[in-house]
Amino acid sequence: MQTISIIDAKNHVDEKVKIGVWLTNKRSSGKIAFLQLRDGSAFFQGVVVKNNVSEEVFKRAKEVKQETSMYVTGTIHEDARSHFGYEIEIEDIEIVGESENYPITPKEHGTDFLMDHRHLWLRSKRQFAIMQIRNEMIRATYEFFNQEGFIKLDSPILTGSAPEGTTELFHTEYFDRDAYLSQSGQLYAEAGAMAYGKVFTFGPTFRAEKSKTRRHLIEFWMIEPEMAFMHQEESLEIQEKYVAFLVQAVLDNCDYALTILGRDKEVLKEYTKLPYPRISYDEAIKLLQESGEFPDVKWGEDFGSPEETYLANHFSKPVFVMNYPKAIKPFYMKPHPTRDDVVVCADLLAPEGYGEIIGGSERAVDPAYLEAQIKQAGLDVADYEWYLDLRRFGSVPHSGFGLGLERAVTWITGESHIREAIPFPRLLNRIYP
Ligand code: ATP
Ligand code: MG
Ligand code: MG
Ligand code: MG
Repeated sequence: MQTISIIDAKNHVDEKVKIGVWLTNKRSSGKIAFLQLRDGSAFFQGVVVKNNVSEEVFKRAKEVKQETSMYVTGTIHEDARSHFGYEIEIEDIEIVGESENYPITPKEHGTDFLMDHRHLWLRSKRQFAIMQIRNEMIRATYEFFNQEGFIKLDSPILTGSAPEGTTELFHTEYFDRDAYLSQSGQLYAEAGAMAYGKVFTFGPTFRAEKSKTRRHLIEFWMIEPEMAFMHQEESLEIQEKYVAFLVQAVLDNCDYALTILGRDKEVLKEYTKLPYPRISYDEAIKLLQESGEFPDVKWGEDFGSPEETYLANHFSKPVFVMNYPKAIKPFYMKPHPTRDDVVVCADLLAPEGYGEIIGGSERAVDPAYLEAQIKQAGLDVADYEWYLDLRRFGSVPHSGFGLGLERAVTWITGESHIREAIPFPRLLNRIYP
C-alpha cells in the first residue's frame, strides 16, 4: 500500500492508500461520519461507514477533534459532487497528534482575531489557495526572466543610503554608523545591468508606510528587472509580457486554487491579451476631469487609489500611465526629451480597484544632471558616488521597473486586502505573530 498526497488521488482511483492528514471539519450521524481532511496539497472528504469499519475506528472518527493529525487508510473513489472530484472511504485511522480546542472554528471570525492567529489561519482553505497562487507567481517569475535571458542579482537589504528620500525609511544601526533597510534594490540592479546586461532583483523591501490602506504592507517582496541598452518603449513590452505570463501561469497551473477563491477565470483571461493600453499622465488627468467624479484633480499631483481605480476600470485592462510630472517622481528617472516638466516613466495600473502594480522608468544617463537631481532631492552626493560611477564608465540607455509581488497576488486572486497575500503580514499596527 502506498502513502500518497491528496493532490495525487486522481492517480489512485479504486486503490487502497495511506495519507497523513489534519482534520478541518467533520459531521457524523449514527451510521456514517464525514471527515474534511487536508494535507497541505489539497482538501478532500473522508467517509467512514460504521458497518464497514471496526467499532474502535468509528468511535475515533466520531470523536476526533478539529486539527488532530492522523494517518487515514482507505480506498480512493471519484466524487462528482465535490469540486476536488475525489474522496477516500476510510478503513483505518491512526491518530498522530491530538489537538486541543482549536480557536478557528467553522463560524465567522473577525479580522483582528484571524490576524492574531495568522500562524493557524494559514491552514484554512482560502489562505491555502492564495499561497498556492503566490507560489506559482514566484515560480513563473523565475521561469519568465530565465527564458528572457536575465540573471537574478541579489541586492543588499542593509544599505548605507536612501534612494527615495527618508520619510518611509527604516533606520537601524550598523556597528558605529547608520544603516537603513532597503526600500528598493533598483540602484544595485542598475549596477548589475551595466555588468551583466539584463538582471532582476527579487527580495524583501521595507517601507514605513504611515497610512493604513488595503494596498500597502510595511514589508513586501519586489521584483525589479533592469535592462541595459534599452529604452522605455521596449521595457513596457517586457512589463506587459511578464504580467500576462503571470496571469497565464496561474490560469494554467492553479485551477483548483482559483475555484476555491471563486475568481472569475474569464476576467483573468482578458488580462493575458496584449498589448495593454498606454496613455500619458496628461491624458489621464483629462479623463479624470471629464468624468466629473474628480472635481479636485489637478495636474502635478500623484494619483490616489480612487483615481487609479477609475483609470484602469475605464479600460477594463491593466493600463500604462506614462510620463508623470518630474516633481513627484524619484531623482533617477530620465528627463523627457522635449519637455522639462515630465519624466520618461510609466506606472501600470490594474483594474478592479487594485491600483499601481508596477512603477518603472528609463534612467537618466548624464552624471551632471543626476548629481544636480541628487542635491535637489536633499540627498548626500557622497552616498551616491558609486552610482554616479555607473554613468562615468560606459553609460548606456537603460530601463527598469518594480513589481510588488503582493500587489499582483492580491489582484490576481481577487482578494480585497493585501494582508492576505503574504504569509505573515507586517502592517502599521501589527508585527505579531
Ligand atoms: P504606491 O503609489 O502604491 O504607494 P509606490 O509608487 O510608492 O506605490 P514604487 O516605489 O513605485 O511604489 O514601488 C514599485 C511597486 O512596489 C509598486 O508599483 C507596488 O506594486 C509595490 N509597492 C509599493 N509600495 C508597496 C507597499 N507598501 N506594499 C506593497 N507593495 C508595494
Ligand atoms: Mg508609495
Ligand atoms: Mg505610486
Ligand atoms: Mg510607483
